[in-house]
Amino acid sequence: MSRSVKAAVIGAGVAGLCAARELRREGHRVVIFEKADRIGGMWIYDPRVESDPLGIDPNRETVHSSLYRSLRTNLPRQLMSFLDYPFAKRENGDQRAFPYHEEVLWFLNKFADDFGLVELVRFNSEVVRVERVEEKEDEWSVEWRTSGSDSVSQEVFEAVIVCTGHQSEPELTSVVGIEKWPGYQIHSHNYRVPEPFKDQTVVIIGYGPSGYEISRDIATEAKQVHIATKIPNVQVQRLESHNNIWLHMMIKHVCEDGKVVFQDGSFVYADTILYCTGYKYHCPFLETNGIVTVEENRVGPLFKHVFPPRLAPWLSFIGIPYQDTAFPVMDLQSKWVAQVLSGKVLLPSEEEMTVSTEELYRQMEEKGLRKRYTHAIYPNGIEYFNWILGQIGLPPEDWRGKLFLEIIENAIAMNYGYRDEWDEAYWESVIKESSQPLVN
Ligand code: FAD
Repeated sequence: MSRSVKAAVIGAGVAGLCAARELRREGHRVVIFEKADRIGGMWIYDPRVESDPLGIDPNRETVHSSLYRSLRTNLPRQLMSFLDYPFAKRENGDQRAFPYHEEVLWFLNKFADDFGLVELVRFNSEVVRVERVEEKEDEWSVEWRTSGSDSVSQEVFEAVIVCTGHQSEPELTSVVGIEKWPGYQIHSHNYRVPEPFKDQTVVIIGYGPSGYEISRDIATEAKQVHIATKIPNVQVQRLESHNNIWLHMMIKHVCEDGKVVFQDGSFVYADTILYCTGYKYHCPFLETNGIVTVEENRVGPLFKHVFPPRLAPWLSFIGIPYQDTAFPVMDLQSKWVAQVLSGKVLLPSEEEMTVSTEELYRQMEEKGLRKRYTHAIYPNGIEYFNWILGQIGLPPEDWRGKLFLEIIENAIAMNYGYRDEWDEAYWESVIKESSQPLVN
């Protein structure tokens, strides 16, 4: 017999919307808590810059989204579709395969409307504490504060699904001499538009997706952009595609006179240092007596990045893995969680989940991988996806994983043009021919 639980979903971004839809499909009763006044999470562009642009001050006025104004998706629509719900083109909208961010927000709103999810959301409700009631496994106290009010409300749920995202809390890197360096410092979380950097010399630290994209955006206004990268043995070089962007080794130190010295001894006098150094997982509301912790950017222990073995299935997390397709993975994780909660799908025993999780950590240690990379699933995304498909009784597939790998290769090989040179027609045909284009 199917079990129906009362579930609290925290967050109404992609993860929370997927979770709510699947929970409801399985017959659970769902409340979504959302601190903002609308759905969409990261995809709600907010032009404000936080009062501390590095995001260090715990009392700063925070902004959730890390979007900048000109952002286009870095994956094509096919990889930002849900399993049974394609990211279609909007009439009179941006028709491109890699559209502007507004199209994603439109898509998420349409998804929420089509599945009646908006009525499940308690807007302007920030969850401030989640804790088990007297050690009972399926009784969780959720406390939240409504915007503009000091009072806290409380309600008990059987299951809590954490969908709060992990790209809002800046991660910084230490730079020797930075205390006395006189320029402006900002994290990519607070980068919105290039105009404030007009005619400046900007040093960007980090050459992951944010450093790659923002360097090109800021170069439209800045005089010079210098990217400090960890690419081994990189020689100072100007990018062929841009006459004002250079690649360098990492920074060795910075000086009181504004000089930024790179590890090979080359240097520039910079106005701004922009940290594209990633984000930290952050669950300040979660109180589990140390059962689940965030240590060196590992949320753990989590079986398959979703269930803490000792608290499963009553506590779960959607959207923790990165370096893979976010939307389909969150959709799939949501199906798994919803079906485990209803009893349709069984989890391994607590001991088996613990052993599996410890085995992952052991393997990471053996390979010399730091804890902070626990949730970076590249290049094992296909394996991960297929494992969850198997749990919910669906056959494996590989087109999504192949397409993702091709995008990454193209992005590297084609430089900034990969979005517009992408062969959409070819991939449409591959997806159509796939035995399982979209799972129902
Ligand atoms: P979020 O979208 O961050 O949503 C979390 C929600 O939880 C928010 O609405 C927030 O207000 C709410 N919340 C947080 N804390 C609380 C609380 N205590 N109480 C109540 N509510 C709370 N992915 C792609 O697939 N394609 C892309 O092109 C792409 N580009 C990206 C570009 C940038 C700059 C960044 C930072 C990320 C990008 N991503 C991209 C990844 C993107 O973050 C994910 O696609 C996805 O939006 C994450 O969804 P989420 O629901 O996990 O988190």
